[in-house]
Formats: sequence, structure tokens, C-alpha cells
Amino acid sequence: MPKDGSTFANGYTKRHEAERKRWKPKVDAGLVNCWRCGQWLDPAQPWDLGHDDQDRTKYRGPECIACNRGAGARASNAKRGYLPRVNRQW
Ligand SMILES: [Zn+2]
Repeated sequence: MPKDGSTFANGYTKRHEAERKRWKPKVDAGLVNCWRCGQWLDPAQPWDLGHDDQDRTKYRGPECIACNRGAGARASNAKRGYLPRVNRQW
């Protein structure tokens, strides 16, 4: 990773990295559960630092990849006005 010459989203990246570093020892020790679904975070598996859905400037803590992708999909679906519909009539 280049240390200089790169200013892209630098403030965000630094804060994100600092927060990840704060959590990493705990995840590595197997002490952290995903804040969204409560699933235990396996230190051998990748994890993401989750944002608050209401306030993207706030970090909520580590979350599993499935929840992180799910949250992103839900947000973009909402932006597109997508509403799931069930047409089956049992
Ligand atoms: Zn999760």
C-alpha cells in the first residue's frame, strides 16, 4: 500500500483502519460477535467494520461479511425503490 502520493479518501481510510486495528486483537482472540446478527466471528474468516445504518460516520463494530453485503444490498435496493413482492397465493 503506498504511503505517500495517495490522498484518495485518506481521512476516511485512516479512521477506518484505526478502528479496525482497535478491534482486531479482540476478533483474533475470538471474543467478538457480529453486531448485526450476533454470529461469532471466526478469526480465520474475513470480517468487516460495520457502520451505523442511520449515521454512516459512526462505527458499530465488526460484522460478518454476509451482514455487510446484506446491509449494502438493502441500502441500494431502497434507493432504487425496490420492494420485494410475493405473488404466490397458497
Ligand atoms: Zn452478521
